[in-house]
Amino acid sequence: MPPAFAALTDALVYSIPIVIAVATLEALVLTFVARRPYDWRSYAASLADFLTREFGVRRFLAFSLAVPAIGWAWQHRLTTVPLNGALAFALLFVGQEFCYYWFHRTSHRVRWFWATHAVHHSPNEFTLAAAYRFGLTGALSGTSLFYVPLIWLGFPPVAVFATLSLNLLYQFWLHTDWIPKLGWLEYVLNTPSHHRVHHASNPHYLDANYGGVLIVFDRLFGTLVVEQNDMPCRYGLVKPLLTNNPFEIAFHEWLAMARDVWQAKSWRHRLAFVFGPPGWRPDGDGLVARAVR
Ligand SMILES: [Zn+2]
Ligand SMILES: [Zn+2]
Repeated sequence: MPPAFAALTDALVYSIPIVIAVATLEALVLTFVARRPYDWRSYAASLADFLTREFGVRRFLAFSLAVPAIGWAWQHRLTTVPLNGALAFALLFVGQEFCYYWFHRTSHRVRWFWATHAVHHSPNEFTLAAAYRFGLTGALSGTSLFYVPLIWLGFPPVAVFATLSLNLLYQFWLHTDWIPKLGWLEYVLNTPSHHRVHHASNPHYLDANYGGVLIVFDRLFGTLVVEQNDMPCRYGLVKPLLTNNPFEIAFHEWLAMARDVWQAKSWRHRLAFVFGPPGWRPDGDGLVARAVR
């Protein structure tokens, strides 16, 4: 592992207590200073999700569906990109952001990936604590597969995944409803306003704003929706999840998918329940985003 990335990986571990402290500070200020209703049970569920993932699942379950593909891509890479200058880091940043955009867009449109990503969208309030609720099943979904092309091109896996971690760390501050629109930054960056729309389940806001650090790929691929002052965001899933049980939160969509597959009448339906859009039903009566809209 290049020493710079080893140091970065260490630094990211130290970011965990800082992130939790800032989210807790927000919760305290909203509760005792702003005197707003704050869902502390949801806060606890998100914290349990974060700690179980970082100190349980990641340490003891190294298995990921993507590992063989990553190994193969690195072994058969086209070239080796030397990470020794600004241009190489700029390419790594933009390449990672591009892969992130497609990971994220697919996670909203293919139920197999949504089964994990739904967890991030399950909080019914938009707070900093919700930022680190990602679920426990990312490795099972194989979400790292989306970065295989970058590795095949010649970017070292450790550099790609360290950049992804930085991308996710950047997104922490986006999860809050009290930071207003930020002027010209809204054109380039993913901001709290853009991410509020992303987490909203109002029909007009569904399936939009997939960027990580940047919002430019949403502009390019036509998935940008701008927050409207006269349309307050309603946060959470289209069919709200009301539990605060961390394991129910982590596995609810997997269980629903398994139930649908079990009860399906044909193999075509079974495949559609797994690889079709979330909410798909054979009778067309489901909650697919396009139909909801
Ligand atoms: Zn999302
Ligand atoms: Zn988010």
